Amino acid sequence: MSDYHIDTKCVQSGYQPGNGEPRVLPIVQSTTFKYNSTEQMGRLFDLEEAGYFYSRLSNPTCDNVAAKIADLEGGASAVLTSSGQAAILMTVLNVCGAGDHLVSCSTLYGGTFNLFSVTLPKLGISVSFVPPDADADEIIAAVKPNTKLIYGEMIANPALNILNLEAFASAAHKSGVPLVVDNTFPTPINCRPFEWGADIVVHSTTKYMDGHATSIGGCVVDRGSFDWDKYPERFPGLTKPDDSYHGVVYTRQFGSAAFTAKLTAQLMRDMGASPAPMNAFLLNIGLETLHLRVSRHCSNAMSVAQYLEKHPMISWVKYPGLPGDSQYALAQKYLPNGVCGVLSFGVKGGRAAAVKFMDALKLAAIVTHVCDARTSVLHPASHTHRQLSDEQLVLSGVSDDMIRFSVGIEDPGDIITDLGQALDSL
Ligand SMILES: *Cc1c(COP(=O)(O)O)cnc(C)c1O
Repeated sequence: MSDYHIDTKCVQSGYQPGNGEPRVLPIVQSTTFKYNSTEQMGRLFDLEEAGYFYSRLSNPTCDNVAAKIADLEGGASAVLTSSGQAAILMTVLNVCGAGDHLVSCSTLYGGTFNLFSVTLPKLGISVSFVPPDADADEIIAAVKPNTKLIYGEMIANPALNILNLEAFASAAHKSGVPLVVDNTFPTPINCRPFEWGADIVVHSTTKYMDGHATSIGGCVVDRGSFDWDKYPERFPGLTKPDDSYHGVVYTRQFGSAAFTAKLTAQLMRDMGASPAPMNAFLLNIGLETLHLRVSRHCSNAMSVAQYLEKHPMISWVKYPGLPGDSQYALAQKYLPNGVCGVLSFGVKGGRAAAVKFMDALKLAAIVTHVCDARTSVLHPASHTHRQLSDEQLVLSGVSDDMIRFSVGIEDPGDIITDLGQALDSL
């Protein structure tokens, strides 16, 4: 589908039915696949022949949806995972083991921040954080001999910082490691990080891609161009024989699909963060309207941001689409067609006023979710980022009066009316 525009790819990429086959992506609700000979099954297990044998490793419904996301991002291959967190963890573990290190931009989703600052260190993987506006030299200064990747969120959730993608990509490539970008908030509709030098993209498909809050899911997309063989000692898992597969060397056998082949064959096999075919089917339906929804989310969010900016009860508004925003220039550079539907703001009166305001909203619902067709609202300091210390809250860009507002695709006037009546109640 690579010649088509992205809107067409949303609708048509991935599943390509043959003559007389179902028009709509079938749900292959089967854990196993039947073969006529012992020998052929053996070849599948040895990765000598491609084919399905157990849905913990791969499943046709999931693979068709992964192929659509790979096409949307402009990547060479992709794997769906059971959640966005699983996509991030599998990506890290695909190149890092005990004794290794990674460098990450500090403005992160709360779950990723915990993974990097608490859970990975328990596994012997250490993480250094650099600020989102770090230049390439600052990022390179954090790189160590055991660094295996550099990581950042394209639009940080909930801080809404825009990653300085070119600086991070240049630092990664000068250091001989891949740049991994979480592209959940922009989606490939608004930004395709591979076009700016990223090597691997991860997604929480739970957000805009699903779009209707039906299924938790994730995706790992590989651009297929990072030269692992140039640094064989740094990436032995990809470039040296894998004892758990009779000595297969992933870069030799799978070429540009080495990263996803290893992730599937080793990590999905051993850790089982596999998506359900039914969830992949629902995700695919979401993807078919991604281009329409994302543009409506963005225009609605812009209207809301402009309204809030002028309201006397609002102390600050953060939306990278607003010309006065500190991230405006980066947003114009990397996200010229729109940023996302999420914005944050502070209500005058701090934490107490924030809580009162939220409780007065009628259309916008208090839910632990963003990037949903329905407008939703959250107080990060008391919800998603509750486990963080005050110092960690500052580091991840969360203040205690911050309200995170995820603008849906309803009529913008109705959303603004709801905000107005809740602000009047203060
Ligand atoms: C939600 C989210 C995640 C985690 O994804 P889950 O699907 O909830 O596991 C990771 N990164 C970002 C930017 C997110 O918004």
